[in-house]
Amino acid sequence: MASSRLRVAVIGAGAAGLCSARQILSRSLNFEPPVVFEMTDHVGGTWVYVEEPGNIDSTHSSMYRDLRTNLPKEIMEFPDFPFDPYLPSFIHHSEVLKYLEEYTDKFSIRPHIKFSTRVVSIYPVLGGQERVSWKVVSSSRGEEVLEKFDAVMVCVGHYSHPYIPDIDGIKDFQGQVLHSHFYRYPEVFSSRSIVVLGSGPSGVDIAIELSTHAKWVTLSHRGPPLNWTPPENVSMAPPVVSATQKALICEDGSKIQADTLIFCTGYKYHYPFLLPSEGEMAAHENVLDWGFLDGEDMESFDLGTGHLPPLYKHLIHARYPTLCFIGACKIVVPFPLADCQAQFFLLVLEGKCPLPPPEQMLSESRTEFREHQNSGLPLKYLHRLGPRQWEYNRWLADTAGFRPLAPVLEKLYEAVREFRGVNPATYRKRNIRILSREEFEMQTEVTQE
Ligand code: FAD
Repeated sequence: MASSRLRVAVIGAGAAGLCSARQILSRSLNFEPPVVFEMTDHVGGTWVYVEEPGNIDSTHSSMYRDLRTNLPKEIMEFPDFPFDPYLPSFIHHSEVLKYLEEYTDKFSIRPHIKFSTRVVSIYPVLGGQERVSWKVVSSSRGEEVLEKFDAVMVCVGHYSHPYIPDIDGIKDFQGQVLHSHFYRYPEVFSSRSIVVLGSGPSGVDIAIELSTHAKWVTLSHRGPPLNWTPPENVSMAPPVVSATQKALICEDGSKIQADTLIFCTGYKYHYPFLLPSEGEMAAHENVLDWGFLDGEDMESFDLGTGHLPPLYKHLIHARYPTLCFIGACKIVVPFPLADCQAQFFLLVLEGKCPLPPPEQMLSESRTEFREHQNSGLPLKYLHRLGPRQWEYNRWLADTAGFRPLAPVLEKLYEAVREFRGVNPATYRKRNIRILSREEFEMQTEVTQE
């Protein structure tokens, strides 16, 4: 048990930051109320729809106008705060934002959020103490403030800095080129021939949306053949690898005449506040350093990944365990996962869940890094959990001793994944009812839209 109450900074007031704050507030014996830094004037992060996206440096989210969730609300929700049961299972993004706003108010988080305040740098205060504490520099309306915290929870998401693969000759291509981060609605693409590069959830969804207005949509991707019948004006092609003035050229040499190329190629991790900077901070250790030996450094591994600190269990900084990253994992159910991660980290801080020594955590994260590299998968997937997420969530709960997620979530997730694979254009018409921690019922008829 900690001897005095800990002061924790939470960076970001999206789903991950809100649930971290809620978990801190529920442990008032050991923690002071959190200080939540949010660079926009809203809670909700990803779920705040902005009709007019700005440039690459602006704070707009990647939400598009007609997006409905790709997971049913019954899986998405935080374990202690259900969505409105009268809503359909697959809901419009505005309902998710409303849910997060209600969550913020229900758990009285709002008074602890510093809105329009961006964290510009954080750095560890080393030397002598039992554990590392942090200096956090934030900026609001041109004024910088430095505060000290016992721990920092980084909750800044990873869907705001587009990853764009190298396409030979793309600068010469005379058509329009954009990333899905800037896509809003299909009407502006009326009568165009469009290539959507990437068949992840956004690529498939956007291709289907576009087909209602575009002349032709080509879904260009590397994955296995999709086993669903697309709309009549949607075709498949191998990935685009180069471009000329007039055409996009695929891996198999085929050419596509297109008016627009939309990159649905995902995002980079973006933690600019971790970068070593001038002055006082330059004297401190680089938080992004993995300490690889033999002259290797992280720059030689930057394959479009963005910033990548060494993390133990995809969560805790391996060298500075008072710093954590909530929600850095990919292909997961983000809200319940964030809830488990936040509880785990706070139980560690409370001294109720011991961690291995930093050398061991660093060694484990390096091994994981090496294995991932040897697997040939891009580094941006280092924290991709997919089917491993359930075992991971269980490990967090069992190790730290909190209530694990209901087993029904995994069953439901797998069932939805299967239906999405069969027909990504119609799977959202199903509705779901959870019957117990183990069982659910899925209506196959459309009852609500
Ligand atoms: P975010 O929502 O990105 O929030 C991060 C917050 O941090 C933002 O408010 C940002 O302003 C703030 N911030 C960033 N940097 C700083 C800084 N330096 N200082 C201060 N504040 C900062 N998930 C689902 O469960 N179901 C879905 O159907 C689903 N659909 C999605 C569709 C799209 C198009 C996208 C992009 C994502 C989707 N997701 C979905 C995933 C979604 O991102 C997560 O559900 C969740 O919202 C992530 O929350 P977060 O708090 O980790 O990040």
